[in-house]
Amino acid sequence: MDSQNGTNFLRNFVAEHKQFFEPQNEISIFTIGLAACLCAHISYFVMFYLLGIKELMIFNVFSILTYIILIIVVRFVHDRSLVVYIGDLEIILHAAYATHLLGWQPDFAMFFILIIPATFLTKTQKLYIPFLIGGISLGLYLYFKISLDYNADVKYTFDDNNIVRAIQITNAVIGVFVMLCAAVTNIMIREYMEFQLIDQRETFKKLASIDPLTNLYNRRAMNENIRTIRRNCRTPKSKYVIGIGDIDNFKSINDTYGHDTGDKVLVYVSNLFISTIPDGGYAARWGGEEFLFIIPESSIEAGLAFTEKIHKSLRAHVFEIDDCEFGVTMTFGISVGIQVDKIDTVITKADKRLYKGKNNGKNHTEYTD
Ligand code: GH3
Ligand code: MG
Ligand code: MG
Repeated sequence: MDSQNGTNFLRNFVAEHKQFFEPQNEISIFTIGLAACLCAHISYFVMFYLLGIKELMIFNVFSILTYIILIIVVRFVHDRSLVVYIGDLEIILHAAYATHLLGWQPDFAMFFILIIPATFLTKTQKLYIPFLIGGISLGLYLYFKISLDYNADVKYTFDDNNIVRAIQITNAVIGVFVMLCAAVTNIMIREYMEFQLIDQRETFKKLASIDPLTNLYNRRAMNENIRTIRRNCRTPKSKYVIGIGDIDNFKSINDTYGHDTGDKVLVYVSNLFISTIPDGGYAARWGGEEFLFIIPESSIEAGLAFTEKIHKSLRAHVFEIDDCEFGVTMTFGISVGIQVDKIDTVITKADKRLYKGKNNGKNHTEYTD
């Protein structure tokens, strides 16, 4: 597995288990990490028991109790990073006491260095804490370097080199495990935050481009869609058709049946646009009860076919809202453009034809001047 695949694996894992990383589930992540530390200290307790190192056995009883208490309190505290920092301090104290009793040989001092990057991987608002804990750890490491010779006469020494090696290996495995836990958790939380940002960006983008009542594109987004279609014309002679439709006598619908009923009509008509617009085309709420559509790589006939479907559906539909029955019609003006045409010119042409249609009895589509 190369690093790219590894990152993708974690990214996919986070994407597929997003709910696991929701703030309410953050407790589970912390609990798993603390439980791993608890297991590590139970292993240390057994190891010190077998080696007959009483002081460290007692220390580990307190370590085990500390992690049990942390597992319990982690679900109640607001700032969970503090729990991790208490764990970091425990590891540093454990390393200090073990180095004091056993000297450099079994490699407990490795944790002084290892814990420094781990503290910086914990997400926190209080940025001074990793510096403080890192400083304490480095300070202790330097203190032992200065004060304790490699072959110092410490309380416990081991004649059997295999025992030293076994402790070193145990420390290395647990040390790497601690780092891996910190790193993987950090990557997952970072990925989750990135997904959240992408989601938020998408939501904002949608909010900024969609009309909330009708779910159609708003005017601002539609201007962009039209520019894109014009830019992407397959050939300079490729045509796109733009149409503007306006609900007939909408004011009287509002006046007769109420504004809410007017809104329901707008929603119905919008859904009709959404379900009828051909692939690649866009429909928007252009104004109050005015809609604009664009169909790329098409002709005036395609525009006519589209508006005819809308006319037909509307004529066939009886609105039954709050015990009232009524029909709704629309008038359209459509025009075609090619890449060199200015968009405003094509839209103005469609608009003029719409008003020609309004003056010519409404409820139809105008496509000539
Ligand atoms: P015409 O056939 O010439 O288009 O006549 P009309 O009554 O449809 O046109 P007019 O411009 O006189 O009235 C449009 C009405 O649309 C006026 C306005 O209050 C109403 N309107 C605009 N936006 C909304 C909306 O979001 N909801 C509702 N219910 N009414 C709206
Ligand atoms: Mg109208
Ligand atoms: Mg109008």
